[in-house]
Amino acid sequence: MTDPNCIFCKIARGEIPAKMLFQDADVMAFHDIRPQAPVHFLLVPKAHVATLYDAQPEHERALGKMLALAGRLAREAGASDGFRSIVNTGRVGHQEVYHVHMHVLGGAEPLGPMLQRRK
Ligand code: 5GP
Ligand code: ZN
Repeated sequence: MTDPNCIFCKIARGEIPAKMLFQDADVMAFHDIRPQAPVHFLLVPKAHVATLYDAQPEHERALGKMLALAGRLAREAGASDGFRSIVNTGRVGHQEVYHVHMHVLGGAEPLGPMLQRRK
């Protein structure tokens, strides 16, 4: 359920600070520490799930809540004209933090292309 060394588990336990937008028993939402758009926050299950490969039926409530909350929280954070949600998984997906999280990115202007072309 919780991993002592995982940074997002530490945020869930209140051991390191985060700019929290929302939390309940299942999920939390906080601003990304290195924002890549004017609005950039993460929706995260409180339970430790390393990647989407590891998602199980018991995680459905938290994972469903992340999607169900994204629009409301995006609007409240100032992304009222669209946003992008991204879940990076594993090496190929360039996942950095191995605790599932959904990025919500937006702002006033349209975002760039979904994937950067390799040079
Ligand atoms: P990933 O590449 O795993 O999809 O994204 C991980 C994200 O977590 C990155 O955008 C990174 O800036 C963010 N992040 C990493 N450590 C922290 C932290 O301690 N606090 C917050 N708020 N965000 C973090
Ligand atoms: Zn964790």
